[in-house]
Amino acid sequence: MNNLEQYESIVGSEVIVRIKEKAKPLLNRHIVCINSTFSGGGVAEMLNSAVFLFNKLGLRFGWRILQGFPSFFNITKKLHHALQGEKINLSEEEKKIFYETNERFAAFTHLPHDLVIIHDPQPLPLIDFFEKSQPWIWRCHVDMSEPDPATWNYLKGFVEKYDEIIVSQEEYKQNLSIPQNLIHPAIDPLTQKNEDISEIEAEKYLKKFGINLNKPIITQVSRYDKWKDPKGVVEIFKKVRAQVDCQLVLLGSFAADDPEGQETFEEIEKCIADCGYEDDVILLTVSDDILVNCLQRAAAVVIQKSLREGFGLTVAEALYKGTPVIASRVGGIPLQITDGKSGFLHEPQDLEGFTASAIELIKDTDLQKKLGEQGKKHVTENFLITRYIEDWLDLFNRHLSTSN
Ligand code: UDP
Repeated sequence: MNNLEQYESIVGSEVIVRIKEKAKPLLNRHIVCINSTFSGGGVAEMLNSAVFLFNKLGLRFGWRILQGFPSFFNITKKLHHALQGEKINLSEEEKKIFYETNERFAAFTHLPHDLVIIHDPQPLPLIDFFEKSQPWIWRCHVDMSEPDPATWNYLKGFVEKYDEIIVSQEEYKQNLSIPQNLIHPAIDPLTQKNEDISEIEAEKYLKKFGINLNKPIITQVSRYDKWKDPKGVVEIFKKVRAQVDCQLVLLGSFAADDPEGQETFEEIEKCIADCGYEDDVILLTVSDDILVNCLQRAAAVVIQKSLREGFGLTVAEALYKGTPVIASRVGGIPLQITDGKSGFLHEPQDLEGFTASAIELIKDTDLQKKLGEQGKKHVTENFLITRYIEDWLDLFNRHLSTSN
């Protein structure tokens, strides 16, 4: 685990000094965050780094994971779909399970903290089961640009009990009576997933998974989730492969709070079997940060073919490694990619556009390098964990500094 000083060579000493100053008034302040999974997905990824660093900075920062049965996670997955714009019907029975799971968790979760942060919709109703004696923040990571109105109306009843909501993009703000602010997600450059690895080491590691670098790699690293559109990635690969020799590697682990992963994975297996180039496709489900790192580095092109995307940490991860990304112009992705400068952006349905960009990049290694360098610079300046820590310290100070 890393100390803050270790980030100095990447972000400079001024940033480190500033962070320490901002943490000083928060020494020993007791803060807790609650989400619904320890691994898999961007929320857990960020918490794994941030929670540790907050404690290193002298805050007493805890992390709890909401517990629930599969029936609960089936419902919260529906809520997730609805926040991302899908029309759903939530029955009274489903609302009851959603609510009572939170009630049960609340019964054995004691929150004597100075501030409580709730991540995403799963633990949202917890606020109903506590006598609120501190600020409660709801941090929503989902692309809420067009939520299903009926579902949002239901969730809004809980949200308005909070003191503030934090979203990843201006467009996700809603019509609410409470303050809404932005914090952009970020990646940790010193984790196994993002730290420097030499080309030789990466090549050796990839071989363990049957990945040879004898052909250019197109890859998408994402949970098997319909919003990530892995089927679309296979469609694009078919078109690209018909014109240039290359291989596709799809890497997706499963998240404990995502009950649909297995089903989506099986659909992809079928698509690949029917694609006509199955010998050039590698489909992986391992959860392995070093593999993610090596793959994002070794790829000629990383694709992020999302239909909706709260932010898309995988985009920042690939760009940080100097690999250009071709991605959908949705959610938080355009914050990270300037079209033609650090990658290419296309409408999610524009398979021809994705195909043309992939072919162009595969054929032109100088262009790969040029876009990759721009991408790395942009992520280093805007989306590293130190900036994220600073944004949160600002928020904590706003709510907790003794002068308040
Ligand atoms: N991830 C991973 N292994 C995989 C697929 C994804 O470690 O096989 C990680 C990925 O590197 C990133 C996070 O899961 O850190 C996904 O975050 P993102 O914001 O892209 O999407 P989310 O899953 O949160 O919707």
